[in-house]
Amino acid sequence: MSATLAERVTSLPPMDVAGRAARLREHLAVERVDALLVTSLTNVRYLTGFTGSAGLVVLTPDELVLVTDGRYTEQAAEQLAAAGVDARLEITSTGQHQVVGATLATAERIGLEAEHVSWAAQRRYAAEWFAGCDLVPTSGVVERLRRFKDDGELARMEVAAAVADAALAELRPWLVDGPTEAEFAVELDATMRRLGATKPSFETIVASGPNGAKPHARPSGRRVAAGDLVVIDFGAVVDGYCSDMTRTVAVGDVDATSLRMLEVVTASQAAGVAAVGPGVAAVDVDTACRGVIAEAGWAEAFSHGTGHGVGLDIHEDPRVGTTSTATLAVGDVVTVEPGVYLPAHGGVRVEDTVVVTPEGCRPLNHTTKDPAP
Ligand code: ZN
Ligand code: ZN
Repeated sequence: MSATLAERVTSLPPMDVAGRAARLREHLAVERVDALLVTSLTNVRYLTGFTGSAGLVVLTPDELVLVTDGRYTEQAAEQLAAAGVDARLEITSTGQHQVVGATLATAERIGLEAEHVSWAAQRRYAAEWFAGCDLVPTSGVVERLRRFKDDGELARMEVAAAVADAALAELRPWLVDGPTEAEFAVELDATMRRLGATKPSFETIVASGPNGAKPHARPSGRRVAAGDLVVIDFGAVVDGYCSDMTRTVAVGDVDATSLRMLEVVTASQAAGVAAVGPGVAAVDVDTACRGVIAEAGWAEAFSHGTGHGVGLDIHEDPRVGTTSTATLAVGDVVTVEPGVYLPAHGGVRVEDTVVVTPEGCRPLNHTTKDPAP
C-alpha cells in the first residue's frame, strides 16, 4: 500500500547537505577567489541546513564556518548535526567582523554574493571587515549548484506538491457556494498547513471574474459567482522546499470566449511541457507556449514569462522566457505557466512544476486540468 500524505510528510528521506560545500569549493578557483562570503540566507541554509533568520557562511579551501548569534546557539548546532555538516560554528552578537576577519586573515581575494549584498554592506566590508583585500563580486555561484535537485530535494518538492494537490481537491467544490476570494485563499493556506506544509510558498492568488485579468491579483472581498473563471495560483513549503501550481476553475456556465481561453491555455501549457527536456533551450519552451496562444490571436494577452525554477526559493534559476539563455538539464525543476488575460472575460493560467529527466520531464503536481469545480 502506498504511504499516506501524512506519512510522506513525516518520513522524508535524508538529503546530502554535507556534500554541497565540497562542490562549491571547486568553484573558488573558477571565480579566482580565496574564500566566499555567503550572506544569502537561502544559500546559508542550502550549505548548512541552518534555518535561522540571521547568519552567514564563510567558505575557504579548508573550512566551512557558520556565524550566527546567541538566539540560535542550540538551533544552529542541532541543525548542523542533523544535516551531518562538518562546519565550525561561531556564535557572536557583536563580533561577526572579528570572527570572519580571523578566519580570512590570509585571504587576499574574497568573493561576495553580488546579488545579495547591499551597497551599505559592501561599503562596510570594504572599509571595516576586509580593508586591504580585494572584494570580488560573484554572481549566482551557489544558485548554479542549487539548480539541479537531487533525490532528497525532489522528494520534498513532490510531497509539497502533493500537499497542494490535496488541499485544492478538498476545497474546490466550495467555489460554487460563492466564498470571497480572500476566504478561499485563507482556507487553502490553512488546509495546506493542516496537511503538513510549514507555510504557503508565496501569497496565494485567488482571482475571480474580472480580477483574473490581473495576473498577480491579490485575493479580495469579491464573491465567486456563477459564470466566473477563477485563477488559483498557490504552493506549499515542506522542509524548506516549495511547490507551485495554478489551476483555473470555471464556476457555473462560462461564456464561449472563456471556454476558448481555457482550451487555448491548456493546449499551450501542454505544448510547453512537451518541449521540456535535457539539452533544450529554455527559450524554446517559452516559444512553444507562445506559439499556441499567438495562433489563437491572443499573443498580446500573454503578458508574462512562461516559467521559472523552483526549489528552496519560489523563484530561482533558470528563468523560462523570451530572453532566457539557459539550457535545461536533468535535475532542473521549472514551471510552465502560460496565461491569457482579457479584461472583459478575466484570466486563465495553467501551471505545472516539472522536473527535467533523461527522457524529458515529469510533473511534480497531479491536480486535474478539468476546469470543473
Ligand atoms: Zn504559481
Ligand atoms: Zn510560478
